[in-house]
Amino acid sequence: MSDTTEEKLAKLVTLFPDYEKEALLDILVSCNGSIREVTLLIDGDYSKLKEIESQRKRLKTKSQQTLLSCFSSPSSAISARTLPRGSNGKPINLYTKSEIESSLRYCTYHPNIFPDQLADSLLKMGLEDDAAAPNEFYLFGNKCVSNHKTRIYSNQPNGSSMNYNGKKVKNVGAYTDELAMAQVIIEETVNTALGKRKVLPFQVKPGDWNVQTVLCNIYGRESNLDWHSDRLTHIGAHAVIASVSLGFSREFRVRKVYPTNSQVYSIHPSHNSLIIMHAGFQEEYKHCVPFLPKRRAIPADEIHPLSGTSRVNLTYRNYTMSQNPTCEKCGYPMELRRAFKDSKNRGKYLWQCAKSYTDQNGFKEGNECRGMRFARLNCDPPYTNDERLCSTWLADDDYEAKQIQQ
Ligand SMILES: [Zn+2]
Repeated sequence: MSDTTEEKLAKLVTLFPDYEKEALLDILVSCNGSIREVTLLIDGDYSKLKEIESQRKRLKTKSQQTLLSCFSSPSSAISARTLPRGSNGKPINLYTKSEIESSLRYCTYHPNIFPDQLADSLLKMGLEDDAAAPNEFYLFGNKCVSNHKTRIYSNQPNGSSMNYNGKKVKNVGAYTDELAMAQVIIEETVNTALGKRKVLPFQVKPGDWNVQTVLCNIYGRESNLDWHSDRLTHIGAHAVIASVSLGFSREFRVRKVYPTNSQVYSIHPSHNSLIIMHAGFQEEYKHCVPFLPKRRAIPADEIHPLSGTSRVNLTYRNYTMSQNPTCEKCGYPMELRRAFKDSKNRGKYLWQCAKSYTDQNGFKEGNECRGMRFARLNCDPPYTNDERLCSTWLADDDYEAKQIQQ
């Protein structure tokens, strides 16, 4: 016989002693009473439970309804609006290049990156691309559809049959002259910027960063993108990603992945600007594009003459990982992650079986495979079962982890 809600809750309280009982109940309900899914959720992102706690405190009277809709609606996932803020409760706004670069150690900002005409034609290309479509993904067994549109363009000869994040991509766009021209500018800017920085152990060397695909995301008035770090599986540890903003200026929020109450920063990338997420950014930070407040009218001078309230975002990545391991238990491809939650294990790169995250599985209870291998980056093969050989990286300023791991 299955446990009652009260019994399940008692188990969860034992499993996660530092959390409020009410918050655990909310999650349990939203996970249809599945302890496994709750554990997966909390393991997947420890910070989410903290978020819910702080949201509960703010919305004491109507929290149940809010939290249920937050989790059970396939399209909403966990909103960027529910995240904890820094000590003063508000994101810190960063506008200029020097403000951004002095506050965020793995970010550089490059306004007016393209000649005006090139920026405008790339913006139009994104807006007019009829083949751009919402992403589909799975969360807690529900099929979710993103509220922004995406198209991938590839300059590779076999680009039309490419994989993206482990999924086969149909309908890859061919490179135009504008995309080729933009790529030359982006590669030169990124490689120059890399030459001015400390090179981290697993990143590409200055001069070697080059682009194989461009991901184009189109954000309308109603679009957002939830908090995440980009997956390292195909771009590797210490990945360098270039992100170009075109059209309407949307807020781009950034915060450290630990501690859970880390300060949120808000960047406002202008039309035709580039943000380089340097090596270490995906490891140490998360980013999101929050919703535009629904009721607030947008001032006329913020509306872009070509795109209105739409933003086109081009992201450039260098795919460095070619021979990713498969799971010893089930044969499924594995995902590369870096442990960060507890300071004792922080910094370790791990391969985790991706089976739980796939379409076929859809996070269904009972189908998880917990297969895991230690990553041994830049080695052949890039994995090991010997923890002592595991690739590890800690940030310079992570004194807490350094002290514990000494
Ligand atoms: Zn597996």
